Amino acid sequence: MSLAALAADFAPAALPPETRGFRREVRDFLDSALSGRRPRDRAKTWTGWDADFSRALAARGWVGLTLPERYGGAGRDHFHRFVLVEELLASGAPCAAHWIGDRQSAPLLLKFGSEEQRQRWIPAICRSEAFFCIGMSEPGSGSDLASVRTRAVRDGNGWRLNGGKVWTTWGHRSDMMIALVRTSGGPEDRQKGLSQLLVDLRAPGVTTKPIRLSYGESEFSETRFDDVFLPADSLVGEEGQGWAQVNAELAFERSGPERIYSALALLDLWTRHLAASPDPRAVAALGRHLASLATLRSMSIALTARLHEGLSPVVGAALLKDLGTATEQAIPADIADLIGPDTADAELMATLAFLHQLSAVFSIRGGTREILRGMIARGLGLR
Ligand SMILES: Cc1cc2nc3c(=O)[nH]c(=O)nc-3n(C[C@H](O)[C@H](O)[C@H](O)COP(=O)(O)OP(=O)(O)OC[C@H]3O[C@@H](n4cnc5c(N)ncnc54)[C@H](O)[C@@H]3O)c2cc1C
Repeated sequence: MSLAALAADFAPAALPPETRGFRREVRDFLDSALSGRRPRDRAKTWTGWDADFSRALAARGWVGLTLPERYGGAGRDHFHRFVLVEELLASGAPCAAHWIGDRQSAPLLLKFGSEEQRQRWIPAICRSEAFFCIGMSEPGSGSDLASVRTRAVRDGNGWRLNGGKVWTTWGHRSDMMIALVRTSGGPEDRQKGLSQLLVDLRAPGVTTKPIRLSYGESEFSETRFDDVFLPADSLVGEEGQGWAQVNAELAFERSGPERIYSALALLDLWTRHLAASPDPRAVAALGRHLASLATLRSMSIALTARLHEGLSPVVGAALLKDLGTATEQAIPADIADLIGPDTADAELMATLAFLHQLSAVFSIRGGTREILRGMIARGLGLR
C-alpha cells in the first residue's frame, strides 16, 4: 500500500442529510432512557452491561442496524450505524451486552457462517436474546495470536475442545463465544491450522471466572474448556481459515467511533466545570482536545464511507485506533494535571478517578499500540 492509498482511506466524507432525522430519534430515546444516569456510570458506556437496555434498543431495530432484514436486521447503511454509535457513546449508554454481537459476531457470521448459523444466531443477536463474546487471547497469546494453544479435535459427529481463554470481555455474562482455536498442527505452525468455533458457554466442561479489576469491577473473565463437546455445526467458515477470518473481524472492531469517544463523559463535565471557573491553561487544553476529536471524527466518518463502499480499510482503521486512543488517554491525564486538589465537584472527581485508572487499557484492548504501528508499517511496505 502506498501513502496515497492510505490517504485515500481518509478521503473526506460527510454524513448524508437523511441521517439527521435518525439522530434526533436516537437522541430523544436516549434522553428519556438514560435520564438520571450518573456521569461516572456514563463513562463506562460500551463497557457497561445492561441487558434490559440492550433489549430496549433491539425493540427499536437498533441492534444489527446494518444487517439484512431477512436475518432480523434493519438493513440500514453504515452512516446510520455511525450516527447510532456516536449518540450511544456521547450519551454514555450501557452497551456492553449487545456490543460484541452487534459489532463483530453477527457481521462475521453473515460473512463466513453457514446459512443455518446465520438463521440461528443473527436474529437472536438482533433481538438481544443472545449475547456474544470474543475468545481470541490466551495466557501467552495476546499480541501473538497465531500461537494459540486451545485445541479442538474431531470427535465423532463434532469437536472436543480443551484449553482456555483470558481477558474475555464479559465472558461470564455472555451466552456464546466465537473462539479462535487450533484444529491442526502445533503452535509452531502459527497461522496454519487455526479455526473459529461457536462455543455455548453453558455447555458441560466450560467454566468462566470473572477477573476482579483494581477499580473493583469485573468486566473480564477467564474461561476454561475441559473436554467440551461441540456439535459439528460449531465450525464457523472453513477449517484452517481462522486467521483470515479473525483479521476480517478485527477490521470491524477497529474502524468504529468507539476508539475516540471513551473519555467524552469526562470532557463534558470538565467543560461545564471550566464554564464556571475558567482557567486559561485548562481552556487551552480543552481546545486542543476538541480540535483532535473533531479531526478524529472526520477520519472515522471517512472510514465509514469506505465501509459503505464495501471496502475493508484495515490499515486506516489501525491508524485511527492508534491516534484515537492517544487522545482518549490524554484527556484524563491532562485533566488530572490541571485540576485543583480542592475541586468541589464530586461527580467530576469520581469520573476522573475512574477514567484515569481505566485509560491504560484503551491502547491495549483491540490490539496494542505497538502491534497497530507494526501493521501500519507493514501496510506501507516498510517491514
Ligand atoms: C479492556 C480489554 C478488553 C479485552 N477484551 C478482550 C476480549 O474480549 N477478547 C480477547 O480475546 N481479548 C481481549 N483482550 C485482550 C487483548 O486483546 C490483549 O491484552 C492484547 O492483545 C495484548 O496481549 P497481551 O495482554 O498478551 O500482551 P502481550 O502480547 O504480552 O504484550 C505485552 C507488551 O509487549 C508488546 N509487544 C508484544 N508483541 C510485540 C511485537 N511483536 N512488537 C512490538 N511490541 C510487542 C505489546 O505491545 C505490549 O505493550 C482485552 C484486553 C483489554 C485490556
